[in-house]
Amino acid sequence: MIVVMKAHCDDKDIDNVLTFLENHGLSGHPSRGVERTIIGVLGAVGPSGTPGSIGGINPTIGESLECLPCVDSVLRVTKPYKLASREFHPEDTRVNIPVPCVSQGTMQIGGAEVVMMAGPCTVESEKQLMTTARAVRNEGAVILRGGAFKPSTSPYGFRGMGEEGLKLLAKARSEFGMAVITEVMTPTDVPMVCEYADILQIGTRNMQNYMLLDEVGRTNKPVVLKRGMSATIEEWLLAAEYILAQGNRNVILCERGIRTFEKVTRNTMDISAIPLIKRLSHLPIISDPSQGTGQRDLVAPMSLAALAAGTDGLLIEVHPNPDEALKDGAQSLTIDQFQSLMPQVQAVAQAVGRSVLTE
Ligand code: PEP
Ligand code: MN
Repeated sequence: MIVVMKAHCDDKDIDNVLTFLENHGLSGHPSRGVERTIIGVLGAVGPSGTPGSIGGINPTIGESLECLPCVDSVLRVTKPYKLASREFHPEDTRVNIPVPCVSQGTMQIGGAEVVMMAGPCTVESEKQLMTTARAVRNEGAVILRGGAFKPSTSPYGFRGMGEEGLKLLAKARSEFGMAVITEVMTPTDVPMVCEYADILQIGTRNMQNYMLLDEVGRTNKPVVLKRGMSATIEEWLLAAEYILAQGNRNVILCERGIRTFEKVTRNTMDISAIPLIKRLSHLPIISDPSQGTGQRDLVAPMSLAALAAGTDGLLIEVHPNPDEALKDGAQSLTIDQFQSLMPQVQAVAQAVGRSVLTE
């Protein structure tokens, strides 16, 4: 339910509505727009393992709210996701990330600037990580990617260096001033990964791991939530809702391709998801053309297409020697390829009224 306040209402009027909601066991989430303030209304969310009561709001409450003098109207939210919906929160969300190498020391994802996140699929060794980090930083990437806990389709595949990998990422951060994004796979690993990472990545295979979503929702770390490989847009936004409902509002969505009948590419990059998410949600969205295509020569064109479609950032795999990569070599750019991509990224960003934050 959304309460639309009358134009010119003041803080006291908003507080009155919030108190009214609290007295009825509901929570209010004000969103102050230029012209109007709206208040999103939610029931309580149950802790993991117990049913939440969102949607179970007594409809007569709406009628009572409409009788309050400062309330203009009460609307039903038709979407099953609430906190993630644009109806609930009309303004774009911007997620703050501490980034020592940029002049402000911090940056926002979801504003006018596009962010470049690059690095190896997987941390393999100190030399591999440092070489890649130095190279991508030189070209203007400000966030370093690298998996330490890797989901592997085969149990015989490389599953990452674990905490050793996290330590190497932290070392690269202190050497190059980049922020670090890395995947967390289980609820029990969340505190440890939070110690080393600036952004937690929830991988495609875990998009519907609800215990994990609850756990990252209880932190205040920025979270990149990858789209499940077979998830609809609605399922994806409902997964984001889990994190938001626990109180963590720093959610960034990531389109990384979906499964279709096409076998030539590893996944089909759903470019339409970018403007669609912008319409349905206020959350920032970045794009991963590496997992999205599975082929290194398709990474540049899909990066540019994602930018043209409105992506807020790119997550790109780069390896000093992709042919010897332990994971995802076929889709990893060489350092030279990343170097030639950057001016193209700048040009397309500029063409759509954005800029790329590099320092
Ligand atoms: C990755 O970023 O290397 C990765 C495993 O991503 P996804 O979860 O999208 O497959
Ligand atoms: Mn990968």
